[in-house]
Amino acid sequence: MSSADGKTWSEVSGASLSEQDAGTLAELELPSVLDADNATLLDNVHPRCHVDPDPTDVVYDLVALGAGAGGLVSAKQCSRRGGRSALIEQHLHGGDCLNVGCVPSKALIGAARRVRAAKGAAAYGVGVGEVTVDFPFIMQRMRSLRARISPADAVSATSTVGADVFQGRGVFTGPHTVVVNGKTLHFKKAVVASGGSPTVPPIPGLREVPYLTNRTLFNLTSLPPRMTVIGAGPIGLEMAQCFALFGAEVTVLDVAPKVLAREDQDAAKVIEQSVRADGVKFDLGIKNLRFKLAKAAEGGGLPTVTAEYDDAEGVAVSLDCEALLCATGRAPNVEGLGLKEAGVEYEKRTGVAVNDQMQTSNPDIYAVGDCSTKWQFTHMAGTQAQMVVDNAVFGDEKKVHTGIPAVDSVSNSLLFTP
Ligand SMILES: Cc1cc2nc3c(=O)[nH]c(=O)nc-3n(C[C@H](O)[C@H](O)[C@H](O)COP(=O)(O)OP(=O)(O)OC[C@H]3O[C@@H](n4cnc5c(N)ncnc54)[C@H](O)[C@@H]3O)c2cc1C
Repeated sequence: MSSADGKTWSEVSGASLSEQDAGTLAELELPSVLDADNATLLDNVHPRCHVDPDPTDVVYDLVALGAGAGGLVSAKQCSRRGGRSALIEQHLHGGDCLNVGCVPSKALIGAARRVRAAKGAAAYGVGVGEVTVDFPFIMQRMRSLRARISPADAVSATSTVGADVFQGRGVFTGPHTVVVNGKTLHFKKAVVASGGSPTVPPIPGLREVPYLTNRTLFNLTSLPPRMTVIGAGPIGLEMAQCFALFGAEVTVLDVAPKVLAREDQDAAKVIEQSVRADGVKFDLGIKNLRFKLAKAAEGGGLPTVTAEYDDAEGVAVSLDCEALLCATGRAPNVEGLGLKEAGVEYEKRTGVAVNDQMQTSNPDIYAVGDCSTKWQFTHMAGTQAQMVVDNAVFGDEKKVHTGIPAVDSVSNSLLFTP
């Protein structure tokens, strides 16, 4: 819900927040204390007093649902090229990449790289003295970078190119209509760009203990002495490696017997060795995993959570941590969008079904990015969106190009020892 007093988040951030503002921050999964960087971020990607335009009597050439890379590129490109477009976002413009994905994770990786270089400097004959890590500073730098980059994905940047921006949850009500904040938008073409969410598997006790996902990890302000990561996939490994370099005792747990189980195993082994060398411990092939709360968080501190499981040899293990990161994979956001009403076929696990032009079972609705593809990268969502605008609005017949290298992302990561 937007506020009506005309003030920005930056203007209210110094004072104690109203119940409505505090509720909005909780909904957005941001810390309840609004610092200057997060206030700037929100001013750009979730303005406090946003007013939706009036869509009466408009038939949009293109409506995009979701303002991550896929939705932003779709709506902006359509407008830039003379089409009439609308963009609907329920959470933060910029989506996962800016707010809780690529940008904050790579900011932490940047710091972790420096720790590793400093720790290894002696081997090159370079003395740097004792290496210390200021975790609150690292997190503050991350928030500052995120805020600094956010104008590129801002609501105002989308409005400036002529697209109408709606701040709320969009739900399709028919093959050519979507409702947001009680207003019906009529469209010729639409793009579903609803992204994905972290999955939380039904591990006994997990939902009863405090756990983090990528949506909340970047809110930490103090370094957990011990961190347990569930899931030896790319996100789990990246963050395990960073936190180990920052000085936490990190253990990665997985029921699979090997890391990066879906990737090339020669490459996965090299990555595992590098992550182990930075201090991460692994317990793979475990069984009977369960969690319990050993100590609740007190006075703004961290809780203690216990993981119990049988290791690969069947030995019972009990492992305590102050931060439990659930990184067990991601699921496409396809529920509650009214896709059935729009005639769009989807599956909960694999997402919206599309052909090689990213067209769904409703030929006037397309789907791009994490909600419809297994190549879950920002550049892939953006490239697909660009192609969809060409096809849907400007009559091209381009086909999806899957040769975009994942290496763009790998090169941003820390996982390899240079
Ligand atoms: C920790 C992490 C690190 C990553 N690192 C990298 C990296 O280094 N390089 C890389 O290329 N990729 C990386 N990714 C992946 C990248 O973030 C995603 O591929 C990219 O964000 C996908 O863009 P998208 O537009 O499909 O979806 P998203 O960015 O998820 O955006 C979807 C948006 O849709 C909104 N939405 C959903 N439903 C509705 C609705 N009904 N109404 C209105 N809005 C709705 C959501 O709120 C969300 O903002 C990373 C991801 C994570 C989690």
